[in-house]
Parts: sequence; C-alpha cells; structure tokens
Amino acid sequence: MDDGLKQELTNWLQFYRELGIEEFYRRSPGPPAAASPGAPPTAPLAAARNETPAPMHPGVPIPRAATPPAARETTPAAPAAPPPRVEVPPTVAAAAPIRPPVASFSLFETPAPKPTGPETLQEIRADLGDCRRCKLSGGRKTIVFGEGNPHAELVFVGEGPGADEDEQGLPFVGRAGQLLNRMIQMIDMKRQEVYICNVVKCRPPGNRTPEKDEIETCSPFLFRQLETIQPRLICCLGAPAVKTVLGIKEGITKIHGQFYDFAHSKALTTVHPAYVLRNPREEKILREDFEKIREFLKRK
Ligand code: URA
Repeated sequence: MDDGLKQELTNWLQFYRELGIEEFYRRSPGPPAAASPGAPPTAPLAAARNETPAPMHPGVPIPRAATPPAARETTPAAPAAPPPRVEVPPTVAAAAPIRPPVASFSLFETPAPKPTGPETLQEIRADLGDCRRCKLSGGRKTIVFGEGNPHAELVFVGEGPGADEDEQGLPFVGRAGQLLNRMIQMIDMKRQEVYICNVVKCRPPGNRTPEKDEIETCSPFLFRQLETIQPRLICCLGAPAVKTVLGIKEGITKIHGQFYDFAHSKALTTVHPAYVLRNPREEKILREDFEKIREFLKRK
C-alpha cells in the first residue's frame, strides 16, 4: 500500500475513532468490473474509497456516505440510470485529502426538538378540539373543559356537566354549583382562586353516570389538566371522581374525608354536592370535609 493511501486510511480511522467507532469490516467487493484496456489497475482501496466503512457495534448508527447536501436535496423522482462509475487514479486520490463525512451527521436532518416543560391548559383545550372521541359528543351542546385559576392550589373534580353546564360551557353553574360555591366561601376562598373540572367534559344524557368507555376516553384530558396545574390538593367530588382519579371503588360515604397521594398532589375524597342536595341531612359531611381542605391549605 502506498504512503498516500495509508495516510487516507489513517485519516478515516482517526475520524471514526473520535466518534467512538472503532471496529470495521470491509464489504466484500462485487464482481470485478471488466478492465478496459489502458485503464489504471483497480487498487484494493479504490473500492473501499467509494464505500463507507460500516461499524460493527449493534445499535451504533451507521454513518451514511458523505454526500454534498445539494446532491442529497435534489433526489430524482424516478430512479435514474446508475451514474457512470468514475475510477479515480490512486495517485490523484492520494493527493486530495479525504474529508471526513461531517455532512452526513448534519443536525439539521433531525426534527426540531419539541419545547420541553408542561403543556398549557390552552394547549390541552386545543388538542381536545371539537371532540368526537366518544358517544357523549352526540348529545352535548357544549364541551365543558374546566374553569378557574391555572395556578390553583385547589382543584375540584366533579362527575360531568349537567344541563346548565352544557348550556353555558362552564362547570358547576347549576344548583350543585351553587352549593359548591357556598362551601368554597365557607373556607374563605373565592371561586376564581380554585380550578373546577369534571371526569367527562360532555353532558351524559339525562345526567346519568358516565360509562366506563366514556371515562376512559375523556379522563386523559383531565389527567393532563392536573399535571399542568399541579395543585397542592385535588378534591374529588363523588364516587366517579374518586374512582377515576384514585382508582378507589369503595362507597364514598365510607371513605370520604381521607387524603391520598396523587402524583405531585394530595387528593381528598368527599361526597358530590348533588348528593347533598338530594340528602340535605348529609350536608355535614361536606362541611367537615371542607374544613379539612381549609386546614390542609393553611399548612405551608
Ligand atoms: N355536576 C358535576 O359533576 N359537574 C358539573 O359540572 C355540574 C354538576
């Protein structure tokens, strides 16, 4: 091997070594091209010069051959006839330094990374769009996404919009909402300070309990809202909220007033205000549990 070729080979190996790629094999050469009379003999490395050494490590990306960017961008639509093979006489090739194929590692070919950090409530709402993901969409007037302070320390999760909420597009604006407002005031908070949302965002027909498939389809949006807000406390109002957020199936009147861990937050279980409207003597449950909310938020 002449000194020029040795130097070229050394350059290539050095380049790949700097990338952490150290082992190579040579592709077996194809059938030898018919030598034309007078053509320079094909040196063993001439073939290697037209090929890219391939690393042997599994999982290490195989660098593509260095191709001028312009050539890569103008890919012909239909496969063209192979270009005539041009053999570079070894002496010329040895004189011209081989450039490491830097262009083949261009960062510009990688899709721009998505901005990191939590998504905003607006982004989640935009993703929800004019949702048709489940059958509740067929009967709703308005999607009730949620309302309130995006940095709330306290989030209420109800079951699903009723008729008033469906009309207005806002959570807890009917009779149950008025009771919730009173409870919020009782603990010296304002409705605008908290965030209020539901397990499902469309009204179930006749205010029935949302079904499993509807909750499974819709609750990922709730979880994204909770992940974005990261409140100190999530108050689950009623059994469907408790089951969806915490996975607890026990009767709510048994387990109300208990704190659980939920991701970065704590979660408290209590009865739904609509249950108290139907069973006015149970209002004390709601009062007791709201006092626990007050105590919890006082602690810093
Ligand atoms: N009941 C709920 O669970 N959510 C509302 O938004 C209204 C009533």
